[in-house]
Amino acid sequence: MSFDHLGLSAELVRAVAEQGYQTPTPVQLQAIPMILQGRDILAGAQTGTGKTAGFVLPLLQRLHQRAQGRGERPVRALVLTPTRELAAQVEQSVRVYGKHLPLNSTAIFGGVGINPQIDKLRQGVDILVATPGRLLDHVGQRTLDLSRIEILVLDEADRMLDMGFIHDIRKILGLLPAARQNLLFSATYTNDIRNLAEKLLNKPELIEVAARNTAAERVTQLVHMVDRERKRELLSRLVTACNWRQVLVFTRTKHGANRLAQQLEKDGIGAAAIHGNKSQAARTRALAGFKQGAVRVLVATDIAARGLDIDQLPHVVNYELPNVPEDYVHRIGRTGRAGRSGEAVSLVCVDEHRLLRDIERVLKREIPRVAVDGFEPDPTIAAEPIQNGRSTAGGARRGGRDRPAKAHGAQAVESVGKPSARPAGKSPARFQKEGRHGEQQAHSRNGRAVQRANAAARAEATPGRRRERPALFGNR
Ligand code: AMP
Repeated sequence: MSFDHLGLSAELVRAVAEQGYQTPTPVQLQAIPMILQGRDILAGAQTGTGKTAGFVLPLLQRLHQRAQGRGERPVRALVLTPTRELAAQVEQSVRVYGKHLPLNSTAIFGGVGINPQIDKLRQGVDILVATPGRLLDHVGQRTLDLSRIEILVLDEADRMLDMGFIHDIRKILGLLPAARQNLLFSATYTNDIRNLAEKLLNKPELIEVAARNTAAERVTQLVHMVDRERKRELLSRLVTACNWRQVLVFTRTKHGANRLAQQLEKDGIGAAAIHGNKSQAARTRALAGFKQGAVRVLVATDIAARGLDIDQLPHVVNYELPNVPEDYVHRIGRTGRAGRSGEAVSLVCVDEHRLLRDIERVLKREIPRVAVDGFEPDPTIAAEPIQNGRSTAGGARRGGRDRPAKAHGAQAVESVGKPSARPAGKSPARFQKEGRHGEQQAHSRNGRAVQRANAAARAEATPGRRRERPALFGNR
């Protein structure tokens, strides 16, 4: 099946061909014809599945088909996203896919000046991509009229709810005309999502794609067990010895992200942190540096990394395991995208054994453990509770505080204290189908990578006492 057969206009098929896409992804195959028919949809699809084109292409076509009278340019489509990065990226996709159509778009989000956004809105915008808070600021200042919206998209709706945006979303819904098309995308079906969908959607078509599964299969996953105080050392060693050029590293907290980036810089590795406390300009700079290769390691919190669209990201490192198992799946989905292979490495210390078990329960598989010479954990070090003291070498005081809302912080405590830290949503059914496929392969491929790294490091190793100069593979 090609894009020609989905009912898209020649301009859109051309734009897609110019992107080099040959076949629609599963979510695109299902969503595009439904949206073109004017149906509401509820789609279980995550970043990396091609969902953005899945809603942007038909949205552009519908707006174009029902052209406005001359001189009029009300906002006709609204896409709400949880983060600034995702808003910017979705709007970029609107530009790319809509380049042969006379429709225009803009993104509005916080952290940057409001006046340029007001100017843009004044000039007339067909498609608006926005984060909820800034959108309401504009409504409050009467610089935005939402009464002519024909299509509403909630992208990554579960994240928006996690981040405490439900009240903002309700307010926004109250400002929209009743007759409109609604498209809701969410990676998980929590009760909150179900409630929202019931209120929002009109006889929705349900779309469920198993793409994250395929990503998880394509991504080689492995765990290095390591002492909490030696994670940074091991990470530096992996980056240099394996010659990783572009690595996305996850920490649990903003503070941990900052500290790690600074420490890596001291080790001579170009690194930057990206998280919610950074200004938009700093985030954009870090991301641009990362994409261009000036920044080798981008250290991010879960929220900041959501929606980052970085092509061909080969390595993801979980410097600290997330408190919510499904965040692990989101994280590793940052690599192995759009059919490419990738590698996800988790550095796990004694405090995190339970988190690892919870992740493996969701994955329905064990992640292979690969020992790194010289970094074997010291068995005399006891586990420390993550929520109370130092959680890891990243220096986190408390787990999961990047989010303003309740869910994850609460779970951080729960996940340590109880045997089963359940994510807010039920485990996606798709993971249950996942077999053990690829594990052997993962083992041997990574075994080889680590062996190569060990050999490289041995060659440059200087003997020394383990605690003082321990960062050498095989130097024992
Ligand atoms: P998304 O899930 O929307 O974030 O898209 C993930 C990545 O897949 C983006 O880099 C898109 O450019 C790419 N992509 C989207 N649709 C296709 C397609 N049909 N074929 C190949 N790549 C695609």
